[in-house]
Amino acid sequence: MKIQMCKTSVKCDLYKCKNMAKFSITTKGFLKHEFVFCEDCMKKMFECFSKEMVPKSINAPYKRLFKGEK
Ligand SMILES: [Zn+2]
Repeated sequence: MKIQMCKTSVKCDLYKCKNMAKFSITTKGFLKHEFVFCEDCMKKMFECFSKEMVPKSINAPYKRLFKGEK
């Protein structure tokens, strides 16, 4: 999966969003179409993802570091 700048002028795929898409995600078969979205939606998604991901991604490297130092 890869995030790229959206080359074609299409509208953002997110529900009720009327912005033009700025980025696209190529999924190589995971989705039927490329998922395209605008900068605003990317920020919203990132906030949403980071709420889920941050507690794990902060703890995991530290644990590994401490184990490595022993
Ligand atoms: Zn959008």
